[in-house]
Amino acid sequence: MRRAINKGILVTGGAGFIGSHLCRKLLEQGHDVLCVDNLFTGSKDNIRDLLAHPNFEFMRHDVTFPLYVEVDEIYNLACPASPVHYQFDPVQTTKTSVHGAINMLGLAKRVKAKILQASTSEVYGDPEIHPQPESYWGRVNPVGTRACYDEGKRCAETLFFDYYRQFDLPIRVVRIFNTYGPNMHPNDGRVVSNFVVQALRDEEITVYGDGSQTRSFQYIDDLVNGLLLMMADDQEFVGPVNLGNPNEFTILELAKHVLKLIPESKSRIIFRELPADDPRQRKPDIALARKLLAWNPVTELEEGLRNTITYFRTLRTDSAE
Ligand code: NAD
Ligand code: UDP
Ligand code: UDP
Repeated sequence: MRRAINKGILVTGGAGFIGSHLCRKLLEQGHDVLCVDNLFTGSKDNIRDLLAHPNFEFMRHDVTFPLYVEVDEIYNLACPASPVHYQFDPVQTTKTSVHGAINMLGLAKRVKAKILQASTSEVYGDPEIHPQPESYWGRVNPVGTRACYDEGKRCAETLFFDYYRQFDLPIRVVRIFNTYGPNMHPNDGRVVSNFVVQALRDEEITVYGDGSQTRSFQYIDDLVNGLLLMMADDQEFVGPVNLGNPNEFTILELAKHVLKLIPESKSRIIFRELPADDPRQRKPDIALARKLLAWNPVTELEEGLRNTITYFRTLRTDSAE
């Protein structure tokens, strides 16, 4: 096994769901991790066990303001990711994506750091092509309620590629598809956390629309492996690359699956209005990641859901104490 070389790594949004798992993994590999987060949707609880680690540092900071630190690599994850949270203050969401990207790219340029952008399948909008390959330019409503996130992320991708072309900056752009797992915010409104929390509390399971819209759910550990492979030293490919699990389910199937795994639940499924611009279907084409990164998601939905359910049970027990 090759020994990991110790690097200084900045993770913006490091106290969030994905960021907290990434920080943990980077520490395990022996790196110095600087976690920058304004705690808008993230929480110190997600990184509580890391705070005493000698190689870990937490800095409360909003990436829409300049940041002067010295690092070797940057993972730019700062941005609320769930529709409920990114629509709460849409102007701030666009600022976080766009001003945040400019500041982190400026920082990367000054210190000559490699920088990875956590982009999203939302750049494809409500797609006419299924599954979505990286070559698809997308179908986004620029004035809809999801636009603050979708267009913000699209503009961030533009900035990354222009810093790459104009300044030769080593960039990586990853388009993340629906990801779930422990450390998701219990109230962030995303479908997996909503259904699991509702089922554990015996509340009604809220399926939006008729539940026939589809998503493909990726477990957090698979995503983190993909992010690390994309950033690896011998990796020259800059992206954009899709990271997601191509196993596609309807939302109604997901609801039934969650109930099957929590057999004691007294919850029943109810149907609610479909939110505006909710994509009908989404499934990644991951041929590029398979070929260029030798990456493949390995966690089945059932295993991932079990781990997530265990996490939310613990959270409930802790908060009941
Ligand atoms: P999250 O909301 O749990 O984490 C985002 C983190 O960014 C939070 O800790 C939040 O406090 C922080 N943040 C927000 N605005 C900030 C600002 N202005 N300055 C500093 N910190 C700020 O969401 P997540 O699921 O962990 O998503 C992480 C990244 O991955 C996001 O960029 C998101 O767009 C992207 N992504 C996630 C998914 C998914 O399914 N989870 C899918 C596609 C893309
Ligand atoms: N920036 C930063 N940290 C740095 C270097 C730059 O936050 O270490 C910010 C800076 O505020 C600037 C932005 O990044 O607004 C873009 O920097 P760049 O050097 O690309 O452009 P310029 O400074 O010319 O605007
Ligand atoms: N959804 C649902 N019930 C919920 C939360 C979400 O039916 O309680 C649906 C939502 O309308 C969408 C899908 O589940 O069709 C995924 O929603 P999520 O917010 O998790 O992610 P995104 O829409 O960004 O893919």
